[in-house]
Amino acid sequence: MAADGSVAIALEGVSKGFGETRAVRDVTVAIGEGEFFSLLGPSGCGKTTTLRMIAGFEVPDEGRIVLQGQDVTSVSANRRKVNMVFQQYALFPHMSIYDNVAFGLKVKRVPRGEHSERVHEMLRVVELEGLERRRTRQLSGGQQQRVALARALVNKPAALLLDEPLGALDVKLRKQMQFELKRIQAELGTTFVYVTHDQEEALAMSDRIAVMNGGRVEQIGNPREIYEHPETAFVADFIGSLNALDLLIDERVGAYVVARFGEDERIVVPVDSSYRAGDALRVAVRPERVQIGQSGDAGVDGGSRLTGTIDEVVYLGMYTQFHVDTHAGRIVSHRLADESLAPLGPGTRVTLSWQAEQASILSDAVSA
Ligand code: ATP
Repeated sequence: MAADGSVAIALEGVSKGFGETRAVRDVTVAIGEGEFFSLLGPSGCGKTTTLRMIAGFEVPDEGRIVLQGQDVTSVSANRRKVNMVFQQYALFPHMSIYDNVAFGLKVKRVPRGEHSERVHEMLRVVELEGLERRRTRQLSGGQQQRVALARALVNKPAALLLDEPLGALDVKLRKQMQFELKRIQAELGTTFVYVTHDQEEALAMSDRIAVMNGGRVEQIGNPREIYEHPETAFVADFIGSLNALDLLIDERVGAYVVARFGEDERIVVPVDSSYRAGDALRVAVRPERVQIGQSGDAGVDGGSRLTGTIDEVVYLGMYTQFHVDTHAGRIVSHRLADESLAPLGPGTRVTLSWQAEQASILSDAVSA
C-alpha cells in the first residue's frame, strides 16, 4: 500500500464468466498508489482476465472497478488512464525507436512540441539513449522490451499493467529485466500491476502479491507473508515446496496448542483463542525451517520435535533434501551445503525440530 494509504486501483466484488467458465470470481483487491502489485497463479486461474478488466478490454459481469477514486466499470479502454504491456511487444518494425515511443504520445494527443523532450526522457529511464534512430527489428529481445515499456510509460499512465512481459526472454535476460523493471518503477513511482505464473519472479519484484486459484484470490500479502505464512495449502504449495501436516490437538498451553506423538515428540503451533483440545489442524512448515540432527538431539527449545528415519536423500547443489518418515507423516528437511554436520544417509535415525512460530495454520484444514 502507498505510504499515504491512497488507492490507485480498487476491484470490488468483481466476477467474469465466459460461457460455462467462471474465469474470475468475486475478486476484491485495493492496489496502492506507487505499488508493485502482482497477480500470481497457475495457467487459467484468471490473472489475465482480471488485468484485462482493469484495462477495460473486458467488462465485469458483477462488481466495480475504481481507478483513482473514479468508477470506470463502464468506461471504455481508451478513456482509462492505464496502459498495458504484453508478452508480444507489438512494436512497429519499420519505425525507429523514437517513433515507436512517440506513438504513445500521438495516441493520447499530446501536443507535438512536448514529444521530443518526453521521448528522450523516457529513453533515458529505460537506458536506450543514443539508439533513437534504430529500427526496432535491429534490437535484441531485451531492448525491444525496453522500447515497449518506454512507449507504455511515456504518456504517464496512472498505472501500468504488465501481462507476463518477460515471458519471451531467456532465463538470464529475464532475471536482468526483473531488476530493470523494479528500478524503472521505483524511479517513476508509477503503480505497476504485474501478471505472472512464476512465483520466484513475483517474490523478487512485488510489494504485494495476490495469489489466485480457480478465479478467486486465495491470499494477498507481501512476499514474506505469502512465503512464511501461507493461509491455504494451495498458496503454500504454489509458492514453494512445503510440509503439510494434519494434527489432532492434545493440549492447549497458553497461546499454543500441542499435538503429541509419543514421549518427547510433539508439534507446537501458535494459535488464536478459538482452538482447543480435540480440534483438527493442518499446518505448514517450510523444509528449510526443519532442522535435522542426530537421533537423541534435544531439538529446538520449546519448539516442535519428532524422531524419524531418513528414507531418501536428494543432493541439489546449494542444499540437500532429506525425506524423513515420522509419526506425523513424511517430512522434508533442507540442509545447506555448507553446514558441517556428519553425513546422513538413508536408514539413519534422526531428530527433526523447528521453532513453534515457524509453523503456520492452513485455513483449509480437514475435519477429524
Ligand atoms: P494464463 O497464465 O494461461 O494466461 P490466466 O490465469 O491469465 O492464465 P485467464 O486467461 O484469465 O487465466 O483465463 C481464465 C479462464 O477463462 C480460463 O479457463 C480461460 O480458458 C478462460 N477464458 C479467458 N478468456 C476467454 C475468452 N475470451 N473466451 C472464453 N474463455 C476464456
